[in-house]
Amino acid sequence: MEINVIVLAAGMGSRMQHHKNKQFIHLAGYPILFHTLMVFQKMKAIHNIFLVVREDEMSYVEKNILTLKDFSKVIKMVKGGKERPDSVYNALKCIEGEGLVLIHDGARPFVKEEDILRLIQVALESKAAVLGVPVKDTIKSVDANHMVIKTPDRSLLWTVQTPQAFELNLIKQAYEKRYAYSKDFWDDAMLVEELMDHDVKMVEGSYENIKITTPSDLAYGEWIAKNLTDD
Ligand code: C5P
Repeated sequence: MEINVIVLAAGMGSRMQHHKNKQFIHLAGYPILFHTLMVFQKMKAIHNIFLVVREDEMSYVEKNILTLKDFSKVIKMVKGGKERPDSVYNALKCIEGEGLVLIHDGARPFVKEEDILRLIQVALESKAAVLGVPVKDTIKSVDANHMVIKTPDRSLLWTVQTPQAFELNLIKQAYEKRYAYSKDFWDDAMLVEELMDHDVKMVEGSYENIKITTPSDLAYGEWIAKNLTDD
């Protein structure tokens, strides 16, 4: 069975306050996106990578990232869309056949191969699975005036990460359906839960699978690269 990965790198990264796309910033000597692509390039279980980048950054990525190693699994560069779901949908339209698709943020370079393999195993059975970790903080729901409405049971709350893995046709159908709703869907699994009425299984990942978003994440990322990775 084919296992495809969509790696998303077409965001603006405005919270990074940096002049270039956050995924091109160097971490431990290489661009963040390089580290992310390497995780999947090295994995035997992964067949194809669809890399989503902004149209005006395609040649930069080609020259400055894809030449750093033999990224033979990157079979297509896909043009990014306005919002993240538009980018995902552009990539989904390029993937044919059946099988699984993993959707991953290019800004999460520290995802571990062992976690991805467990995610794939679960997704092969359940058709939809996501990586996540139990929350460490207490979470409160508030209303528009910041008044606390409730404090959900902490033992049932998880922070969701990527990759998220789906049977290809299930996630394609979910993305097609979203146009009929005015609601904002910011998470891939949310579409499957709400529009396909399909169960999604949570798979425990690792706390260091952070999304590099703000400048302080870069410092923490350097620490993770130095202390917690095998490379
Ligand atoms: O903005 P945020 O950090 O939530 O984006 C998550 C991932 O989605 C990032 O890797 C980003 O590059 C990607 N993205 C995208 N296309 C967009 C917006 C975000 O590929 N239009």
